[in-house]
Amino acid sequence: MPEKPSSVLRPPTQVLTRGFDPSLSVGSARPAVFRSSTYVFSSPEAAERAFDLMAGRAQPLPDEKPDLVYSRFNHPNAEILEDRLVPLETGAQAALVFNSGMAAIMTALLTFVRPGHSIVYTVPIYGGTQHLIQDFLEPLGIAGIPVLAGQTAAINDAIRSAKNLSVVLIETPANPTIIMTGIREAVEAAAQRDPRPLVMVDNTLLGPAFQHPLLLGADICLYSATKYLSGFSDLIAGAAVANDSQLIRKMRSKRNLFGNILQPDECWMLDGRLPTVTLRMNRSSKNAERIAHHLAKHPKVARVLYPSLFTDPEQLRITREQCDFPGGMLSLDLKGGKAAAFEFLRNLHIAHNAVSLGGVETLVCHPKSTTHSGFTPEEFAQAGVTDGLVRISVGIEDWRDLLTDFEQALELI
Ligand SMILES: *Cc1c(COP(=O)(O)O)cnc(C)c1O
Repeated sequence: MPEKPSSVLRPPTQVLTRGFDPSLSVGSARPAVFRSSTYVFSSPEAAERAFDLMAGRAQPLPDEKPDLVYSRFNHPNAEILEDRLVPLETGAQAALVFNSGMAAIMTALLTFVRPGHSIVYTVPIYGGTQHLIQDFLEPLGIAGIPVLAGQTAAINDAIRSAKNLSVVLIETPANPTIIMTGIREAVEAAAQRDPRPLVMVDNTLLGPAFQHPLLLGADICLYSATKYLSGFSDLIAGAAVANDSQLIRKMRSKRNLFGNILQPDECWMLDGRLPTVTLRMNRSSKNAERIAHHLAKHPKVARVLYPSLFTDPEQLRITREQCDFPGGMLSLDLKGGKAAAFEFLRNLHIAHNAVSLGGVETLVCHPKSTTHSGFTPEEFAQAGVTDGLVRISVGIEDWRDLLTDFEQALELI
């Protein structure tokens, strides 16, 4: 069958047609899993060429397919997965997969920051990312400068004034408070500086379906693929995607050193989940929106945190400009504090009390005593993580059954 040039195909088609040639897997319709740790060279010259390319001593010719070498560097299942991630992220040219979201974030930061540099980052941010910056990078002489999510003017000031700024790291929306940070504004502030710092966005919560940081000028999108990309709460993985393939090439050489590439079996599982990520995210978002709007009126709920319920004009503006849909994450601030939150969790029948998010099943947790328990009292207050806050990752069940489950659990408080 003659192949259409992939650039004329739309993303949902590309994600099913790119990167995999059945003739390389004895005709199987799904890729084989290549569990080999090493690859047999086609000739000593091909081996020499593969090493020259890998070390950057030579540049690949257009359409050159160098021999594979060793699975810490690359393997067929990673190549297939990376080819299929590219069309999912609007504006991307290259992707790289890792054995966790933290591995992707760590590799991105360690590739581009050096002692004496600084990193401006939004807070609240994923706990692991905060630890990485505060407890690992800062003792190495890298300054971490936290700025409150959503505070556009303060973020711009920090970007303008930070000394030797090499990276701006934005996580939007913030977790668990669903506060949006403007990506375009941060990109514009970064562009005023020379040298220009890289803008990285942790796009785990709304990407790749609903938020497109590369289109807004960000340099690198980072993912915990453990969440929506894989979608079934059964594997740990991470990804980085970029418009400039040179950035990905630099990260790849660090991944070769760190040995944190995703293993063949996980690559195969994840590549089979990509064609449905938009379907799953759409369904979760529709479910979450209906549930959020119903529970907003509930007498035992003080506040529902969800993008389509925002009233703050700046939050509304950012959401309108950068999010296609409000997404599957919402938080409830329950009247009655921690006791009410714990009673609510105890009484759920369908939703499970677990951390993590982005799976087809609904998960609920109490951030203050779990995911965010390391915060200081000031951080709790700043981030708006209250005693009564429960975070819900809405799955793809029938939303009416979920709403009934939440309402009966609220009644029992
Ligand atoms: C889960 C998560 C991470 C970490 O990803 P792992 O796959 O658990 O390493 C990073 N950022 C966000 C926003 C997350 O939700």
